[in-house]
Amino acid sequence: SEYRKEDILKIAIEEEVSFLRLQFTDVLGSIKSLELPVEQLEKALDGEIMFDGSSIEGFVEVEESDMFLKPDFATWKILPWFEGEDKMARLICDIYTIDGAPFEGDPRSNLKRVLKEMEEMGYDQFSVGPEPEFFLLKLDSNNDVTLNVNDTSGYFDLDASDTSSACRREIAKTLAEMGFEIEMFHHEVGPSQHEISFKYQDAVTASDYIQTFKHVARVVSKKYGLHVTFMPKPLHKKPGSGMHYNVSLFKDGVNVFHNPDDEEGLSDEMRHFMAGILEHARGFTAVCNPLVNSYKRLQSGFEAPRFIAWSGMNRTPLLRIPATRGAGTRAEVRSLDPSANPYLATAVILKAGLDGIKNKMDLMSPVNENLYEMSQSHLKSRDIEDLPTTLYTALKALDEDEVMQDALGVHIYEQFRKNKLAEWNSYSAQITPWEIENYLKHY
Ligand code: GLN
Ligand code: MG
Ligand code: MG
Ligand code: MG
Repeated sequence: SEYRKEDILKIAIEEEVSFLRLQFTDVLGSIKSLELPVEQLEKALDGEIMFDGSSIEGFVEVEESDMFLKPDFATWKILPWFEGEDKMARLICDIYTIDGAPFEGDPRSNLKRVLKEMEEMGYDQFSVGPEPEFFLLKLDSNNDVTLNVNDTSGYFDLDASDTSSACRREIAKTLAEMGFEIEMFHHEVGPSQHEISFKYQDAVTASDYIQTFKHVARVVSKKYGLHVTFMPKPLHKKPGSGMHYNVSLFKDGVNVFHNPDDEEGLSDEMRHFMAGILEHARGFTAVCNPLVNSYKRLQSGFEAPRFIAWSGMNRTPLLRIPATRGAGTRAEVRSLDPSANPYLATAVILKAGLDGIKNKMDLMSPVNENLYEMSQSHLKSRDIEDLPTTLYTALKALDEDEVMQDALGVHIYEQFRKNKLAEWNSYSAQITPWEIENYLKHY
């Protein structure tokens, strides 16, 4: 880490920080935060702050609820939107049990566990470059969010006047002030839909980035009188929001996905890794697309993937290989959406790829046709499966994939499954306006 304990204590005094937030993420992906006066900073840095985890979603039962927060010094940031007497810093923490072991229900610690498996296989970095998309929606006079878009621009449009681009720029500016490396930010295809893409980072840092980005986006959009939503498909017949993951493996600072001697510049390891992702795609979908609503995005159209295939250029399959070579050689996983818990999503994608390498899985041939338009029989003749089409079928697929369950660990798998099944059951008991409209009179 860049900081030692002494550095942080010194900065806190120099910068006149008054408060400290200790943050972590629950199983469903919500950021949890504990606020302390700066007098507690040293104790916090020593990992001695305890909390009761019993009410945290997907954590523990009441009997074993006391836990320790161990801050990761590299995540020390002063939050630029607090000023003067309220000046606030934050640290992202791992959660430890009272026995001093990483807590199995902590998604961040779980990701580190999967990263250890990667290190045992001889790699030292799983690089992830996320591209989260989101909508900026208008508020009504009561400050409640509406479905009204704030701009009607389209992909890469340059609109000098609208508040959306000003808001998006301030999100990016705030992140830059906090030291984040942003690749670019632009308008997306949908009205009021935007994207900020990050330069790739190691897996834990990238996951931390996503959480921080979502929080910053919330704070800044409020200032502009807007609501940012990461709901995957808020608007009927408009594009959904994805969160593409650009992934690669590094060894001694070199991207092992690149092979200059190969005709396509790709290594066998990359091909096996991609094969592993395709093999486990059905199994990891519940984790990467965790809402009932996620499956409204994963339909044919609007550049969201529906089928388990890969391609060099075409944007309809699950995996694409962008043209960049060298350190930027990567696979783009296109199915994820920004409602996913990034720590869990990163863990399952990594584990799926590693399983492909371990078992030297063969990569199917690329599909360069538009998959949305391919006939059922053609799909079948080429052995192209589809992704689960509901949260329920996705949970079933996870139940059948032990490797993906291992990527979560028993504790998180069970808590996740229980929560998501309840969510599905609650949804599927609803009688929707669509059903009334289409059935009531006709039957
Ligand atoms: N919004 C699309 C999706 O759902 C992606 C569009 C793009 O980035 N070109 O994944
Ligand atoms: Mg992009
Ligand atoms: Mg995009
Ligand atoms: Mg992309």
